[in-house]
Amino acid sequence: MPKHWIRIAGLKEGEHGQEFEIKDKFFQAYEYSDVKTGNFIVNTLVVIRGLDRKLTINIEGIITNLLCDNCARKLEWPISIISNFVIKESEKEMESTDEVIYVLANQHQLIINQLIFEMINLAIPSKRAHNKSEEGECDKEMLELMEKYATNKKQEIDPRWEGLNKLK
Ligand SMILES: [Zn+2]
Repeated sequence: MPKHWIRIAGLKEGEHGQEFEIKDKFFQAYEYSDVKTGNFIVNTLVVIRGLDRKLTINIEGIITNLLCDNCARKLEWPISIISNFVIKESEKEMESTDEVIYVLANQHQLIINQLIFEMINLAIPSKRAHNKSEEGECDKEMLELMEKYATNKKQEIDPRWEGLNKLK
C-alpha cells in the first residue's frame, strides 16, 4: 500500500493543501477493518502561522458493502468528516492523540495512512440500516423471511423441557 505523505516542515507561512484518493485497496493493508471497500477523497490542509502548525483532514466519500442490520442486504453509507489537529514537536517519538500529532524536530513529512484509516472507521454508524441512510428502504422480502425465521425459532421447544413433559 502506498504511503500517503504530507509535508509539515520547510513550508512557507500560510496554507498548504494536498489531495488523495482512497479506494478499496487502501483497506486491504489492514487486517482488522470494519470498512472493507469505498471511495473517498481526502483533503489535507497544513496551516503555518509563525511557530504554530495545524492540520485539517477532510474526508468525503462513500463506504460501500456494509451490511444492513435489518435486512442483511448491502448498504452504502456516505460520509463527510473533518478532523483538526495541532502539530507539536517532541524530543522523542510520542503517540498522537485525537487533537495533537507529535512529530520529531527534524521531521519534514507525516504519513497519514493511519489517521485516514481511523477517521473512516470511526465514521461507521453503530446502527446501520437502509432507512437511516438516504438510500431508502430495506429489502421487504428479506425482512419477512427473517421475521419468519425468528418466530419459528421461538416456537421450537427446548429439548430439556420435552424430556420433562414425557416424565409427567
Ligand atoms: Zn436494510
